[in-house]
Amino acid sequence: MHAGLARRAIVIFLVELLAFLPMEGTASARQEQSAAPARQDQPLATYLRKPYMELFQISPELRFSTGQLDSERKSLGEAKDRCAKRFKDQSKQYEKQLEAAREELKKKSSTITPEERNAIHCRIQNLDLLQSESAVLSQHAIPTAYANLQAKLDLIQKWPAVYRETESEIASGAYHQRRWGDVQDIGFRQIASDQQDDIKTGQRAVEEMKRAGLLPPELKNEAIQEYVNSVAQRVAKNSDLKIPLHVTVLQSREINAFALPGGYLFVERGLLEAADNESELAGVIAHEIAHDAARHGHKLMKRATIASIFFQAAQIAAIVLTGGVAGIGTYYALQYGFYGLGLVLNLKLLGVSRDYELEADRLGAQYAWKAGYDPAGFVRFFDKMATVKGYINGVSWFRTHPPFYQRMVDAQREILFLGEKPSMVVQTAAFERMKQELQPIVTKAEQEEKEKPSLLIPRAEGCEPPQKIEYKPGQPIEDLCGAPMRQVPEQKPKN
Ligand SMILES: [Zn+2]
Repeated sequence: MHAGLARRAIVIFLVELLAFLPMEGTASARQEQSAAPARQDQPLATYLRKPYMELFQISPELRFSTGQLDSERKSLGEAKDRCAKRFKDQSKQYEKQLEAAREELKKKSSTITPEERNAIHCRIQNLDLLQSESAVLSQHAIPTAYANLQAKLDLIQKWPAVYRETESEIASGAYHQRRWGDVQDIGFRQIASDQQDDIKTGQRAVEEMKRAGLLPPELKNEAIQEYVNSVAQRVAKNSDLKIPLHVTVLQSREINAFALPGGYLFVERGLLEAADNESELAGVIAHEIAHDAARHGHKLMKRATIASIFFQAAQIAAIVLTGGVAGIGTYYALQYGFYGLGLVLNLKLLGVSRDYELEADRLGAQYAWKAGYDPAGFVRFFDKMATVKGYINGVSWFRTHPPFYQRMVDAQREILFLGEKPSMVVQTAAFERMKQELQPIVTKAEQEEKEKPSLLIPRAEGCEPPQKIEYKPGQPIEDLCGAPMRQVPEQKPKN
């Protein structure tokens, strides 16, 4: 049907949720790895489960043959196709069962008891959920999970040569010639002129978002607002942003941060929950500041006006909320309890495109580094999100981004070019205090979300707990692909 259209729409409009990078491993983990060189005593597939950061360390010592690598690549590709097709077929089967249930309702409408009617409502509701889940898994989660494995395979195969090349560029000094290699001049060089022209655009976008009810409320906690602001200002001071940065923490579960043009940075509460240390948070913020410093939003929305962008956003919101876009709205609602600003924000406004992601990754790494943070924080966070938390597996903004492998390698090269500083901040006491402050706020907000009547809450009452397709964060994708299809049993009316 209009699935193609809807898919295109989501590619265009999906926000830049975590536009982050890959990697893993703390400074101490790095040392442990170099102390104990990798032994290739495990099958190739096992290495695909390791964090990117660890693979950067050990891949030069691995000795898999081209034949092994190619055959693994081929079988990953086949497994992905099989798995995606399986859930696509399931989605069609649920669709048929849904039609049958609706037909039944129509036919019996004048003869059934209220209890029987409710039982059919419950069945329709559950089938709707399963259909959405299958479609989203097939179109988004499964391709993303396999793309992540393919990227790790590419890394094992290609990184050793890239690493040697990187080392020789460093040895010869050639790396100073890379684009924006003049990192000693951050803040004095010209990344993009006339940043101040974006301030008005940003202000109008904020107003429009408020008007459209898209902007979650501010998080009401001064200490947390102040803390996040201090981290962001520290990064901004060490960036090429020459206009004031306004920072707001939003009361929302979404794991997201975004910068509207003109220095309007928004950090959603979910990001603070998901980050484990200050370098991760600073890395994400630095990436967003880079989009603004380079005026990516401005460059992408040259012909569009704020009004037209929000008109489109409203249309997309309608599609998402009514369960369109491969049921992604329903999927989100049921998996995470919210739809997410990330689904309806306009990518153009946020400066998100393939090329600009790479630019923001590189500049972001530079800003975090200049501000004294371990620039790998950003990459570690990305890896955690891609492989452990499973959160971003559900959505497709990665598709608008450069391939995982390219982003990871570019980021790791930049980190090597920047070099280690004597003390790069990973964790701070202030971050840990923020987490403590956040804890009761999260508990309270989750409780309130449960109690709040909402469109997301199923309408039929007294149903059995719904059958769901469980795809737990960190679960190997193969488990999902091999799981039996969920059936919705005919429910007996309750008396
Ligand atoms: Zn980005």
